[in-house]
Amino acid sequence: MYDVIVVGAGPTGATAAKILSDNDMKVLLVERMKLPRYKSCSGVLIKKSMDLVMEYFGKDVPHSAMCTPTDNHGMIFTNDKGKEYAFNQEGLNVWRSSFDNWLTENAVNAGAELRDMTSVIACDNKDDNIEVKLFSDRLYSEQARYVIDCGGVTSVIKRKELNIAPEFITTFQTFNQGKIKLDPHYFYAYLQPELSEYDAWFNVKDDMLVLGVAVKDTNKISDYYDSFIRYMKD
Ligand SMILES: Cc1cc2nc3c(=O)[nH]c(=O)nc-3n(C[C@H](O)[C@H](O)[C@H](O)COP(=O)(O)OP(=O)(O)OC[C@H]3O[C@@H](n4cnc5c(N)ncnc54)[C@H](O)[C@@H]3O)c2cc1C
Repeated sequence: MYDVIVVGAGPTGATAAKILSDNDMKVLLVERMKLPRYKSCSGVLIKKSMDLVMEYFGKDVPHSAMCTPTDNHGMIFTNDKGKEYAFNQEGLNVWRSSFDNWLTENAVNAGAELRDMTSVIACDNKDDNIEVKLFSDRLYSEQARYVIDCGGVTSVIKRKELNIAPEFITTFQTFNQGKIKLDPHYFYAYLQPELSEYDAWFNVKDDMLVLGVAVKDTNKISDYYDSFIRYMKD
């Protein structure tokens, strides 16, 4: 019997598991992927995120979670009319696989029990507790007083519980070798409607040029991505 079962070992789940364990709760942190796991993300930690890490974990993000250039200086947005706006702010450039894994290790060191490669399938009220159905190599269940769903945007648990219809933006990004005349310390977002259905972006991670587009209709990924590449070449 656990005080809390936390679903998902991303930043939210790892932080919840760490804080609850620090407060002597018996915590089970469940992650469906094998850790460290890939997360589609630009991996820019803004100042507020860095401060939250210090507040809840009591230390700075380690070098092993970072990629080059390690320092992010802010974001440069290009609006729908092609006009650029720069927002300068201190930040860090991390690989999400390493960063999330480091947060999770800290939760485990604080006393949380971790089960990766395990999916939470369903939660049902049972007497005064919650029965949580889990699947790894078999289907089984655990009991908890509380469940916190930190499963991110693709989580089926909160969607089932709150009866929310799935609605997604799909992101597609590639990691490329090459050279570009842009400052690698910034994250660039392009809001022109001909380049994506949400935003298109560019940043640098470990000398790779990362180029991505976000779409609502997945059939349009290659058209938008090709337009974005042409735009960046120009
Ligand atoms: C392309 C892209 C770029 C982004 N760039 C940035 C950025 O530069 N900076 C920034 O701050 N944010 C960025 N974001 C947003 C950021 O990735 C999310 O806000 C963040 O990951 C949310 O953290 P989370 O812990 O809530 O969820 P997640 O990081 O999604 O973690 C959820 C975890 O739960 C697990 N899970 C889900 N369901 C279950 C289940 N049923 N059982 C067990 N495990 C489960 C998943 O496998 C996953 O590991 C970006 C997002 C995208 C898509």
